[in-house]
Amino acid sequence: MTIILAVTNQKGGVGKTTTSINLAASLAAAGRRILLIDLDPQGNATMGSGVEKNLLTSTIYHVLLGTEGISDVRISATQGKYDLIPANRDLAGAEVEMVDLSHRESRLKTALEPIKNEYDYILIDCPPALNLLTLNGLCGADAVMIPMQCEYYALEGLSDLVNTIKKVRAKFNPSLRIEGLLRTMFDPRNILAQQVSDQLQQHFGKKVYRTVIPRNVRLAEAPSFGKPAMYYDKLSKGAQAYIALAEEILQASN
Ligand code: ATP
Ligand code: MG
Repeated sequence: MTIILAVTNQKGGVGKTTTSINLAASLAAAGRRILLIDLDPQGNATMGSGVEKNLLTSTIYHVLLGTEGISDVRISATQGKYDLIPANRDLAGAEVEMVDLSHRESRLKTALEPIKNEYDYILIDCPPALNLLTLNGLCGADAVMIPMQCEYYALEGLSDLVNTIKKVRAKFNPSLRIEGLLRTMFDPRNILAQQVSDQLQQHFGKKVYRTVIPRNVRLAEAPSFGKPAMYYDKLSKGAQAYIALAEEILQASN
């Protein structure tokens, strides 16, 4: 069965896109059929998959607006054995243009229907906002994956997100669950990070992935080469951490 995961956190720069790209590549390398959906007008998941966003004439924007079918927009990631629904800044206009459309929160869900069975996992890289795009991600998903940095304000931001998830459950998607919380850019020498990490485990228990993503410069460098880290420096701590995360997820689903 297909599992659709929205990679989301309204806080910017916490590692959503890095997680989406590297988890897509790691799950694909483990033999799973993977689709990555870029749902952010920044188009970082598109560029990080080796696709030049500014040359694209068909993107997720056209899918959401209903002018293109999803299979016409789908491409292969240049590096990494996964498929991609790309985005670029066109998507920034979608929110305003979707306001008058019917079922505006479930347009992604509906668009995915014809192709979802072709995949084991579909990952949705959400933008850093609780907006209509993210709402489409949450309505279209079975579960959310929340990357977060272990900082002082992280837990506060998390409670906003958990409240949003509850509202989406009540109104649109009753079966939406939290798949897991992922500690990103982790520095074990930082005492505050340790404390926040401990609190996270107290509150969320088994929902916190065992795998921790360390701060690792290879993860930050890889996108400028349009590659997931495992195709840039496979032995780097960052690439290995995402390979371990994929293994943890696959083991849990067995
Ligand atoms: P946005 O909210 O803008 O979409 P995001 O949550 O998708 O951001 P990323 O783009 O994945 O976050 O990461 C933010 C920055 O931090 C990027 O420059 C990325 O390369 C870098 N980065 C992400 N994870 C790590 C890591 N584990 N170690 C070092 N750098 C990282
Ligand atoms: Mg991002």
